[in-house]
Amino acid sequence: MFFIAQKCPNCKIRGSRVQNDTMMHHVKDISRMGKAIYFYCATPECDTIYYSDGEIFTDRMINKEIGFKKNSSPQSAICFCYNYLKTELYEPSVVKKINIRIENYGSRCDLRSPSGKCCLKYIKKIQKEESQD
Ligand SMILES: [Zn+2]
Repeated sequence: MFFIAQKCPNCKIRGSRVQNDTMMHHVKDISRMGKAIYFYCATPECDTIYYSDGEIFTDRMINKEIGFKKNSSPQSAICFCYNYLKTELYEPSVVKKINIRIENYGSRCDLRSPSGKCCLKYIKKIQKEESQD
């Protein structure tokens, strides 16, 4: 099935499709979740984490702080499988360290990462943007 990602109602940037199984691990009050198709908002400045038609779950409604969001604390995670922190986001070696762990122990980004996707994608993008500044 093909989905065209909807725009986040808050920042108006297109998010990425997220599985309901992923959300079940991160939304505090899962009784609020409907049967909708949900999306993950990756915009650093936006406090929306998940959204669908007419529904928004903000950063305060999920049980972990996301290190990729501007408002999160320095101790929030950027890698949820191996608990690397926002303070390590710009360390060049962090990508290598996470890769070694994934190679040896695998990963469960689908359940542990709020986006449902591997954190390396976001870390590499942010480090690349930083090196171009
Ligand atoms: Zn947003």
